[in-house]
Amino acid sequence: MLIDTHCHLDQLPNPAAALAEAAAQGVTQVVAVSESAASMPAVLALAEAHPGAVVAGLGLHPAWISQQTPEEVEAGFQFLAAHLASAQILGEVGLDHKWATTPQQQTFQEEILARQLALAAAAGKPANLHSRRCPRQVMERAITFARQTSLNAQLHWFTHSRKLIHQCNDAGIYVSVGPMVVDNPQTQQVALAIADELLLIETDAPVPIGGQPNQPARARIVAEKLATLKQRPLEELAALTTANFQRYLSGGRMTL
Ligand SMILES: [Zn+2]
Repeated sequence: MLIDTHCHLDQLPNPAAALAEAAAQGVTQVVAVSESAASMPAVLALAEAHPGAVVAGLGLHPAWISQQTPEEVEAGFQFLAAHLASAQILGEVGLDHKWATTPQQQTFQEEILARQLALAAAAGKPANLHSRRCPRQVMERAITFARQTSLNAQLHWFTHSRKLIHQCNDAGIYVSVGPMVVDNPQTQQVALAIADELLLIETDAPVPIGGQPNQPARARIVAEKLATLKQRPLEELAALTTANFQRYLSGGRMTL
């Protein structure tokens, strides 16, 4: 069994077909994260239609936050506050300095992230975090969140720096590796630095990676590449990452 722990399933043209294709590749569970106010009900509907196969993540993405009026963001936040209990994960949330370039925009993203993490802490949900162009800032928030709650944090697509991975390992922060690992030697080196007990797999579909269309079935090639790099059988890598995801969800902390 393989799990795609970060996918924008509601943005795929045919989510049911994508789930079937994924299952045919052994990817039998997909975390559907939301981004916008509109994608939150879509994600909840997908989880209801595909129980067991779809794990719902609800949250407001920082890039979306920076493109809305404060009133629209507040309406999205109120929806999240009312429905987070029905989801299993807070996400996709985080910071994104591509979209927030001024101190004012950055402060707004930080405020909304802090409020979303407070909701997750109160509801007992782990967090799935995005960190474009500000990896350290998001990592520090992930570490604080994990320390202050008994909940886990996952940094998605966080394969840029081995130095930061070592800090994640020390703090018990989960890191998911995506399809970049297939051809990118730097990503491969960083992925190998992630502690076995904190390693997760993702696709971030439908974001195209490596110039190819992306879908949750590609979690299999990510797993195959990681198995090859770690010189372990695919079944072992699948069992390891599945156990990691279950521990991530349940809130149990690894002490390394
Ligand atoms: Zn994403």
